[in-house]
Amino acid sequence: MPYERIVILTGAGISAESGIPTFRDKGGLWSKYDLEEVATPEGFSRQPDLVHEFYNARRKDLLRVKPNAAHYALARLEREYPGEVLLVTQNVDDLHERAGSRRLLHMHGELLKIRCEACQGVFPERGAVSTKTPCPGCGVVGRLRPHVVWFGEMPFHLEEIYQALGRCDLFLAIGTSGTVYPAAGFVEIARRAGAWCVELNLEPSAVTELFHEHHFGPASEVVPAYVERLLKKARSC
Ligand code: NAD
Repeated sequence: MPYERIVILTGAGISAESGIPTFRDKGGLWSKYDLEEVATPEGFSRQPDLVHEFYNARRKDLLRVKPNAAHYALARLEREYPGEVLLVTQNVDDLHERAGSRRLLHMHGELLKIRCEACQGVFPERGAVSTKTPCPGCGVVGRLRPHVVWFGEMPFHLEEIYQALGRCDLFLAIGTSGTVYPAAGFVEIARRAGAWCVELNLEPSAVTELFHEHHFGPASEVVPAYVERLLKKARSC
């Protein structure tokens, strides 16, 4: 087997071909909204209804789209690879799960969940939420928020992620610009641990020089091709 422990980091680029705009797409969704207003705790305290409306619309969009070949290829890798495969995603969509990935950490939270700031309960949510919606757990009104990590907040599962990065021998970064930390720093940790680091992206990321190998192109093409090669190598060992 060429590698025993694989860690894969995915970003918005892997879901772009499913129809979910990335942050930096020209004319994309995010260029129409002020990030300070919809993706920070301060923005939420200033205008909670505007922030709820933004995430309600994102949820509605997400329910209309489907995983693409790149999501399916990573689920296949998890199923068929003889070693450990851990998927860490910055995406808040559920396209990895829908494609079949199971060993998956959502470091920036999940769009299809809400959290109550009164009881700290986390609940599934596929519809619309407002400041008038009572918490499904404790019943308190006006304390629900999207279960996503905003700028300035601590990502989820960091301890588990750092542990896996420190032990991995292959690190893949897929569809991520390398500009949002701490995820942009994962390659450095994996590299220090001795892992072979591979970037699969449409174009070189901001941390591209830290990778040993690069495959540039749309995720729906480069990811299935890379997975196929990895599985073939594992079978021949
Ligand atoms: P980003 O928007 O900063 O970068 C996306 C990267 O993907 C870019 O480097 C771009 O070149 C590449 N890309 C675009 N289309 C691609 C394609 N078809 N195939 C391969 N690569 C492609 O996104 P990021 O690095 O994930 O970081 C920013 C933040 O964006 C994260 O915190 C994430 O939570 C958030 N975000 C998530 C979603 C989602 O859940 N789907 C969507 C938008 C933003």
